This record gives sequence, structure tokens and C-alpha cells, in this order.
Amino acid sequence: MSSESGASGTSSDDPRSDDRAAYDYQGGDVARPGLVADLQSLIDGEVRFDEYSREQYATDASIYAVTPVGVVFPTSTTDVAAVVEYCADRGIPVLPRGAGTSLAGQTVNRAVVLDFSKHMDALLEVDADARRARAQPGITLGHLNAALADDGLKFAPDPAWGDKSVLGGAIGNNSTGAHSLQYGKTDAYVEACEVVLADGTVTTFEPVPVDELDELADPDGGLEARIYAAVRDLLDDEDIADAYPDLKRNVSGYNLDWLIERAREDGVVDVPGLLAGSEGTLAVVTEAEVSLEPVPETKALALLRYDDLLDAMEDVAPILDHDPAAVEVLDDVLLDLSRDTAEFGALVDEMVPTGTGAVLLVEFYADDDAEGREKVADLLADRAPGTETLAEPTGDGVQTDAPIRAASADEAHGEDEREQFWKLRKSGLPILLGRTSDAKHVAFVEDTAVPPENLPEFVADFRAVLDEHDTYASFYAHAGPGVLHIRPLVNTKTEAGVAQMEAIADDVTDLVVEYGGSVSGEHGDGRARTQWNRKLYGDDVWETFRDLKTAFDPDWLLNPGQVVSRPDDPTDMTEHLRFDPDYEFDAGFEPELQWDDENGLQGMAELCHGCGGCRGHQDTTGGVMCPTFRAAEEESLSTRGRANSLRRAMSGELPEDEQFSEEFVTEVLDLCIGCKGCAHDCPSEVDMAKLKAELTHEHHQREGASLRDRLFANVDTLSAVGSALAPLSNLAAKVPGARTAIEKTVGIARERSLPTFRRGTFAKWFRKRGSHVPADAADRRVLLLPDTYTNYSRPEAGKAAVRVLEAAGVHVAVPASLTDSGRAAFSKGFLGKARETARTNVADLAPRVEDGWDVVVVEPSDAVMYQSDYLDLLGDTDDAAAAETVAENAYGVLEYLDTHRLDAGMEFDAPDEHLTYHGHCHQKATAKDHHAVGVLRRAGYRVDPLDSGCCGMAGSFGYEAEHYSMSRAIGEILFEQVADSEGERVVAPGASCRTQLGDRPDADAEPPHPIESVADALAE
Ligand SMILES: Cc1cc2nc3c(=O)[nH]c(=O)nc-3n(C[C@H](O)[C@H](O)[C@H](O)COP(=O)(O)OP(=O)(O)OC[C@H]3O[C@@H](n4cnc5c(N)ncnc54)[C@H](O)[C@@H]3O)c2cc1C
Ligand code: SF4
Ligand code: SF4
Repeated sequence: MSSESGASGTSSDDPRSDDRAAYDYQGGDVARPGLVADLQSLIDGEVRFDEYSREQYATDASIYAVTPVGVVFPTSTTDVAAVVEYCADRGIPVLPRGAGTSLAGQTVNRAVVLDFSKHMDALLEVDADARRARAQPGITLGHLNAALADDGLKFAPDPAWGDKSVLGGAIGNNSTGAHSLQYGKTDAYVEACEVVLADGTVTTFEPVPVDELDELADPDGGLEARIYAAVRDLLDDEDIADAYPDLKRNVSGYNLDWLIERAREDGVVDVPGLLAGSEGTLAVVTEAEVSLEPVPETKALALLRYDDLLDAMEDVAPILDHDPAAVEVLDDVLLDLSRDTAEFGALVDEMVPTGTGAVLLVEFYADDDAEGREKVADLLADRAPGTETLAEPTGDGVQTDAPIRAASADEAHGEDEREQFWKLRKSGLPILLGRTSDAKHVAFVEDTAVPPENLPEFVADFRAVLDEHDTYASFYAHAGPGVLHIRPLVNTKTEAGVAQMEAIADDVTDLVVEYGGSVSGEHGDGRARTQWNRKLYGDDVWETFRDLKTAFDPDWLLNPGQVVSRPDDPTDMTEHLRFDPDYEFDAGFEPELQWDDENGLQGMAELCHGCGGCRGHQDTTGGVMCPTFRAAEEESLSTRGRANSLRRAMSGELPEDEQFSEEFVTEVLDLCIGCKGCAHDCPSEVDMAKLKAELTHEHHQREGASLRDRLFANVDTLSAVGSALAPLSNLAAKVPGARTAIEKTVGIARERSLPTFRRGTFAKWFRKRGSHVPADAADRRVLLLPDTYTNYSRPEAGKAAVRVLEAAGVHVAVPASLTDSGRAAFSKGFLGKARETARTNVADLAPRVEDGWDVVVVEPSDAVMYQSDYLDLLGDTDDAAAAETVAENAYGVLEYLDTHRLDAGMEFDAPDEHLTYHGHCHQKATAKDHHAVGVLRRAGYRVDPLDSGCCGMAGSFGYEAEHYSMSRAIGEILFEQVADSEGERVVAPGASCRTQLGDRPDADAEPPHPIESVADALAE
């Protein structure tokens, strides 16, 4: 037995504990203060009934929004029991919640929300021999599986968002994923649940032998005994099993067929299995024991292409005869959408010829690579004969007599290759979800399930329903078990759109019934599907649901209205829509930036669909989004939390003009570090950094800007002065007490080493030295722009860039005429100043670029300014075309070398060194992070590129006293990654990252820019 705790993988200290932190993750009026005081006196956890928290928990990943009574973050079962009992006594509903990634609206309610993801996320016990684990409900499946990996075990159900979603949510929704063919759903793995019942009683449910049920059941006893009595009645009901469709995946209604099957086949009453899929309506889970499966040795994949989606659907049943672990489908709507994207276009073009109607992705588990190849060969010999396969078919594989429908096929075996195939599966979704128009691809019939053999007719009829209702959708996801994700395009901001949605749902329910299916094969009932359960199962079973609910929860206080509803309070899928015909939006100001590509600022403000993708952790999700959530595990510090706050403020859910208040700025905007992680990592590309720049600008207009903000926005001028006065200017910070005085006067954290200035700037150095490659002898001419940090504080990176570029035969010039890029002003929300800088620079650079010069920058965030932010600043001005010209020819220095393979003709003699590479988040946001790694490797280094996020400095953020603790908490995540890396020395192109890394406890100096390492590797 081993036992662990604290599975979150975030830094341990709450940044709020620093006295200087001006934020408390709350804001606005506190509702029902008496209730707050009572609850707070009862529990160790935190109670938040402030406006901001309530609005942040008003939505999940669904199309619904309901402001909760308040939010509680319990720390223990005792806390949970106290809250439930208190609320039961007063008739207040309670809603248990995990990551809030549910798609049907089951995690929003007029209730006290219990958020388990913050404190109750411990892995309590692992028994590898018995293949069991015991954990609290708030642990993410990603962390659970990471902890089990060394034992070669895993929690088998694999919902796609398992790196963000939690065990309690998996139980609540009876979740499963792409490999349900192999593993089934969560119900098969919940061995025992400690729960808090509706009256606050704590008990543990585990399967009990049917013949012991009478001892436990008593219709006149306490709550638990009455529950067993109700369950006993169910077991005697012969009609229930007949009312349930014969499906591998059905999560509509209560899990009664599972209960009855377990009783009949295994002789046990499986109440934990009954809780699976009950959506928090029967009991609150506070601990769960789950069984585990071995991680497969290896996997093999086949990709089959079809001319038409219906051909692919016909092929699913015969493919299932080959016993695959997963069969996933992707139709042409999704494929064609992804062809136009920078991220997936090349991949889709390479793997799927234009005109392909659909692809099926078929995965096998295998003991070794050879077995995997044989399984694929056998499949293709049967379903796509004539395909050249890597292994010979065994000859005794399954041979179906179904007609051949696949047009062609491919296979993938190594991990990287398989990853590409799975990447294809994910390709179209971001674009589908990235629509900024009022009509969106919404989730309400998005996970219907039918027996796979009925898929062809079902899909054809579903398409006819959509045609009839004058809309369309794409069809994708888990074809193997018959679960298709279908999100029709609907505008719920209009009465007609709402009626259209309900009519489609009604017709689809008829279809589902006709084809022996279920309205939900994966995501649950929630607000979208509860009303259809009556049609799906019939009146009798619907009444049985009501009886069961009443037995568990006599006053219907646990997440009421989900799965089943009361006669006097029916759930209506058209109520509580996030965007409904009454929805109004008013940003409250005229935006400064270009928002045409986003359908205006409103399009961006409404883009977040709440999927919770920004709640991923560094160790399990990787990427950049969202560093502040990763540091503090606070919903309000995720991109979703911010997007919700902004949208709710701009649509009148918060008091008028709240978004410009000091409190809103402090709690919602200030802590966004502007890393742009979301602009890249979010499936809808929500660009919170850009929204923040707009809002901060408007705040400055209304309230004025602080001295410190103005100082940071003018950092280039200040650095010029510092450099002119160096070394005197550097001494000032060393005078005893100076740091404290600086913190008190301008709010710069006393712990931070201030940048030191060099008297000899990089620009001066270059002027004196001149170019060593004459312009007329060079194929390429580069304007190397002196960014603030390189110019005044650390010229070494600039000098190295000159050496390397010249070694590549490039003529280099360092223009004296330019000011800084405007990055600091832009980040601080001084958009007028940033625009003027952009205009000046573009006017200077564009003619030179047209004359054949390229623009190269050492500092990544400045490079991205020229490449992308200038377009936002100048996009709707007369300078737009010139900005475009500059953007197309602007590069980070390593990007420049790599893009044009300039290092190909260079000679290297690199030190025998293993480097750890931490890229800048702005480069990652623009997908330019890989360039440096390529160049360093070709120069002869071994490189460990970290899948790291933002360093936490984010320009000036980490210098600011009230943000220091947050900056450090984010930095700690990076420090751990650096410590775990095999590299001997860390390199980082970002000046801020180098400062943060230089300040880590075991660092003796700031790490170098990678261009310095490339310069060091140049052969003499
Ligand atoms: C992009 C995307 C992809 C998805 N892919 C899949 C998929 O492949 N398969 C799949 O099954 N789902 C999928 N989902 C839906 C969702 O992610 C899963 O159902 C997930 O397991 C929910 O976990 P959660 O932590 O977000 O739970 P939440 O959404 O917070 O809660 C889910 C339900 O469980 C209840 N609950 C939570 N904690 C407790 C508790 N302690 N006690 C009692 N009840 C509790 C809640 O009340 C709620 O009804 C997807 C969602 C998104 C946005
Ligand atoms: S910001 Fe993006 S990732 Fe986060 S919830 Fe919204 S859509 Fe999902
Ligand atoms: S810009 Fe960075 S910190 Fe801000 S919301 Fe996006 S990912 Fe989070």
C-alpha cells in the first residue's frame, strides 16, 4: 500500500498569503451575509457569496447560466456534511461540482455550490496488487493516472477532458471516453463511495449481497434504510430493464439497468454504481474507491477514408468484429474546416485528400508492436483490401462478408505517428467552437447514442431533421459505441432560434427512440435533456425516477431539476439559456483595437463556451494556458473565470460599468498576466490578453493611470536615462533600505533584482563596430532592432545575434532612428501611446522592408509586437497595409535563422552540453517556439525543450509588489520543471524569463539567451 496526498501539481503557497497581495479572489456585494457567517462558522473551508464568485459559477460548459446562491470550498467530509445539513434544515439546494466541464447544464443551479476541485483532491491510498485506489472527489483523472503510472495502472474511463475533469464529476456523469468499447463506463469501476446524504448523514455505500438487503432496508427507518427500501422495490420491478435501450453507452436517466443487471448477474446491490450518472442529485460523494486497469503495453492505429459519411457508418459494425479499443469518426464538415487553419491545415491535407467524406480512426491495444501491426493488417485485409500494410495479415483474422466501403487506408504505430492521427481527430473542433457569430454550434443533442448497426439510417434521418429545421451540423466522435457528437448551428439569442432548438431536440428524441438509442450516451441529462427522459423511458420509469429521487432526497434539495423533475417544477430546456432573446450586450466603450476578425469585441467577449480547457495543469496538460489558474487553482484565475466575469459584466449581470471599477480591475484583470496562452491553447482562441489591454486602456481613460503604470509603460525612456547615468544609476538600488523605499514609493517588490544598466548600449556598440558583411556581398539584409533590455541592460544577446547572423552571411544594420516596439505601453493598456509607437516604427520600417530588408528582434515579446500586435493597433487605419508588410517580414532571431535555414552553411563546434530550453509564452502563442530548438540542435547541442508555461514575470507583473507572490507561484512551476530536466544549463530567449530564472534559489546567474549559445558554438 502506498498513500499520497496533494495531487494537484500546483505550487503549494496560496499567493494571497503575502500581505501585499491586494486581491482576495472576491468582489462586489456579498449576498446573504448571515448565511455566509453561519456557514463559515461551521466549516474550515472557505465560503464565498460575493457577486464575482457567484457569477463565475453561474456557467459550465453548457449553453445554460444560473447564478448560484453562493460557493463553498470544503476541505473535508465534515465540512461537506455540515453544509448539507445546514442547507437541508433551511430548504436551500446544494450542488456538488468538480471542474464544471459538463455540457448539459447539470453544474449550474440556484444552489450552494460545493467546489471539490480546490481542496478535496487528494489521492488517499493505492493498492497496486488489488488494483484499487481511494481518492477524494476533486482529484483530476490526469493526476490520478499520473500517480498510478509507475504501477502500470490507470483509471480506465477516459473522458476527453480528463486532465481537467475530476473523479467526482466522472461519477456524477458516469463518464467514459474514446476507449469505452474496451472499458465501459465509470459505473464499472466505482467500488465504494463515502457520501453525504441529503440530510447531512455520512455513510459509505458499497455493493451488498442481494440476500442481505432486507437487513438494511426499512421504509420507516432513517434515510439510509429508506434508500435501501426504495432500491429493493426497484429490483422487483420487471418492466424497468425492458424500458432501457440495449446500448454500451447510455447515461440518460438513473442507472437502473446497471443496478438490476448487477443484482441478477452478480447477486449484489450496487448502490455506488447507481450513483454513477446521478448528476449530484442523489448524494454528495466525498471519497471513492475505484478499481484500476493495467495500462496497455502498446497501441496501433488505422485510418480508413470514405467517400461519404454514410459509407463510414456502414463500416462501423463490421469493424467492431475486429475487437478494436476505439473507433472514432470525423466527417467532411470538420475536416474541411480544419484545412483552412494554420495549426491543422497541413496535417489534414497530408492525411486526407480533398473530397473525402469521412474518416474512421481505429485503435487496437497490443502486447507488442508486432501484434499491433498484425491486428491492423488483419483489419485492413478485411475492410480495405489492397492496402499495403507494414505486416502481413495473419491469415486467421476476422473476415466479415460486408461490402468494401473504404476508399483507402493508412496505419500508425510509433507514439509520435499515432499522436498525429489523434491530432487529426481533434482538428476541426476548435474551429467549430470558435464561431464568433450569434449563431453557434451548440450542445443540446450532441451525444446521442444508438446501437452501431443502426448508425447509417440514424445519421441519414438525423441529417433530414437538420435539413427540415434549416440548419446543419458536423458528425464526429465515438462511432464504435454509436455515440455521435452533433452540434447544430443555432442562434439562441432569437425566439426563432430557441424554438428551432427545442423542435430539433424533440424530433431527435423520436429518432433515438425509433432506433433503440438514448438521448445521452456521454454527457448526461442536465438542463438540456432531462425533459426528454419521459419520452425516452415512458411514464412508468419516469415516475420510478421520481420515487427514487424522493427516497434519496425527500425535499429535492440535491441539484434539483436534473435527470428528473417534479410535476410542479418541470425542467424546460429553453429556460436559463446563457444567450437568450433577452440577452443584451454593451461593452460600455468604443474599442481601440482591431476586432474585425473576431466579429467585434462582442464576438470575443462571448467566445468562451466554458469548456474548462483553461483549468489544465502543467504536469498533465502542458502548454501555457492558464498560468494563474495553475498557480492558485482558482476558477476566477482561469481564462474561463475572467471571460465569464467580463461577459456577465457587459451583459448586465453585474452592476453597470462594474468592469471599470477598481475592484474589478484588481480581481479580474490585474491577475491576467497577458501571456497570450489562451490565444493559442484555448480551443476557441479566446484572447484574454487583448481584452485586458482594451479594458485597462478604458480604465486609464476613466480613472487615470498610476505612477507605476506610467513608469513601466515608459521603461524604454527610463532605461535610456539609467544607461546614460550608469554606473551611478545601478548603485542607487544597492543603498541599504533603497529596495524597501522603492517598494513603498512606487510599488516595486523589494525582493526583485532591478535591471542593471550598461553605459555602453548595444546600439552604440554596433555603431562603433559596424557591419562585417558588406551589403553588396550579402544575399540577405537584416535590420536588427535594439529592444529595451538588449540595448540598455544586456547587450550580450544582441552582440551574439550579430555574430551569428554575420556568420550566416547576412548584412546587419542596427537602425538608430527607431524607438522601442511599444510592448510595455501595450501591455500596460496605454494603447494610444503604443499606437503612436507602432505608427512611427511602421512608417520607418515598411519602405526598407519593401527595399528588401528583413526585420529581426532578439526579444520574443517585441518580435510578436511587430508580427501581430501592430496589426491590432493599426488594422483599421491608413497604416494597415504598411503594418502588414512589416509583420510579414519580421522575425525573432532564431525564427529567422530556422525559417531560412541560414545555419545550414555554418560551421559549428558546440561545447558538449545538454541545454534545457524554456520558450517565451508569446512565441508559443504564435506557434514560433520550435525554431530555437531546431537551431540549437543543429548547432550540436542536446536540447531538452520544456513543455513549460509562462515564467510568471510577464514584463512588469513580477516586479509589482502586490503581484510578487503570484509571480513566484507561477515561477515555481517552471523552476520544478527546470530542476527535473536532464539539461545542465537552462537557456531562455525572453528577458523576463531570464530574470525570473535568475532569481530562483539555486541559480547563480541569469541564464543566457539561446542565440548566445549558438554564438558560443560557432567554429573559430
Ligand atoms: C471538450 C469536452 C470534452 C468532453 N469529453 C467527454 C468525454 O469524452 N466523455 C465524457 O464522458 N464526458 C466528456 N465531457 C463532459 C465532462 O467533461 C465529463 O463528463 C467529466 O467527467 C465531468 O467532470 P467534471 O469534473 O467537470 O464534473 P462537473 O461538470 O463539475 O460535474 C459533473 C456532474 O457530477 C456531479 N458531481 C461532481 N462532483 C460530485 C460529487 N463529489 N458528488 C456527487 N456528484 C458530483 C455534478 O453535480 C454534475 O452533475 C467533455 C466535456 C468537454 C467540455
Ligand atoms: S477560455 Fe477557452 S479553454 Fe477556457 S473555458 Fe473558455 S473556451 Fe474553454
Ligand atoms: S493571457 Fe495568460 S494569464 Fe491571461 S487569461 Fe490568457 S492564459 Fe491566463
